[in-house]
Amino acid sequence: MSSYLIKGARVLGGDPADLLLRDGRIAAIGESLSATGAEVLDATGLIALPGLVDLHTHLREPGREDAETVETGSRAAALGGFTAVHAMANTDPVADTAGVVEQVWRLGQEAGLVDVVPVGAVTVGLRGERLAELGAMADSAARVRVFSDDGICVSDPALMRRALEYVKAFDGVVAQHAEEPRLTVGAQMHEGDRSAKLGLTGWPAAAEEAIIARDVLLAQHVGARLHVCHVSTAGSVEILRWAKARGVDVTAEVTPHHLLLTDACAEGYDPVFKVNPPLRTDGDVTALRHGLADGTIDAVATDHAPHAVEDKECEWAQARPGMLGLEQALAIVQDTMVETGLLDWAGVADRMSVRPAAIARLAGHGRPLAPGEPANLVLLDPAARSVVDPAALASRSRNSPYAGRELPGRVVATFLRGVPTVLDGKAQR
Ligand SMILES: [Zn+2]
Repeated sequence: MSSYLIKGARVLGGDPADLLLRDGRIAAIGESLSATGAEVLDATGLIALPGLVDLHTHLREPGREDAETVETGSRAAALGGFTAVHAMANTDPVADTAGVVEQVWRLGQEAGLVDVVPVGAVTVGLRGERLAELGAMADSAARVRVFSDDGICVSDPALMRRALEYVKAFDGVVAQHAEEPRLTVGAQMHEGDRSAKLGLTGWPAAAEEAIIARDVLLAQHVGARLHVCHVSTAGSVEILRWAKARGVDVTAEVTPHHLLLTDACAEGYDPVFKVNPPLRTDGDVTALRHGLADGTIDAVATDHAPHAVEDKECEWAQARPGMLGLEQALAIVQDTMVETGLLDWAGVADRMSVRPAAIARLAGHGRPLAPGEPANLVLLDPAARSVVDPAALASRSRNSPYAGRELPGRVVATFLRGVPTVLDGKAQR
């Protein structure tokens, strides 16, 4: 295995230092390092962060390989600076057995670009009727720790309670897609002034907040860990802040698109902006940014949701909800959180690597950049700017809400256990 000597990288945005990667680990960090036989990378002006960890990725395999595969999604992830992604369970077949999660895990190993960590379904077939084989998935080769019916809410409170109790046995966590389904029948966008004006059925903030409030009470009652997916409203941030102050073991994520975009995007009826939960208001965006900055929201997660052209380039009402996220996530966080002064680069490392890895109990990721640690890291150029061209994306799908938008930052290199998966901004396999 070749070794790499990275010269002059700013670790977590601090002073320049050299990093020597050898045998899959960080062998040394210091000034003016030299190493015979190592490939030298000039990282002047680049920032080094621990490899990013996504808690929420839809890779679509098995079942919708026309939209994404584990391999194409892994490539998109590596190009975005990720070294581990969690593959959501709403595939076809659903990842509700040890067999399916092991299949996804093996496909990730074969692609070899990021660690693909399968999420197991909470209920059989995502039907919300009875619990899936949670223990068998936890004991499988995929070692599942995160369970979610994402796309669908575990709306039955008794079933949610049983899931929370069950995963305690192996230190798992239930990741809830918080949406009270009886409040969102036929919903197309955020319920407010704009939905009324556009004539689209609204998805009220209360449908998310009611489930989060219920679930933090359940998690506290049974003493279990709860994770809330893609928090999208100011009220949700308030409930989470209240729950954390009471000592509830709850964590939460926000997506890049909810940190940047609002329901104003729906005005052109372009379905690329249709997503679940929907884009909210300016006030919600502000609350989400501050919630992420103060740690009420623990992590950024992409909810990368590739869709085939026929599922997205149609009328708004018929279009599937969801948007791409892996390749632009870091740029959106730089744009919305770093350049606004809300987070420094150490904060970005915390919210995009350290905390998501901790929530998923993922050893080997989200570790400090220090000698002896696994060499999972990303080098980014914060001064670069570029315009997003969907045709240039590695994802098999093209439903990027950032098409034509100029964004800051560029991922220059990504290393997975000392092996470059991206160099000079290009995927290595
Ligand atoms: Zn979801």
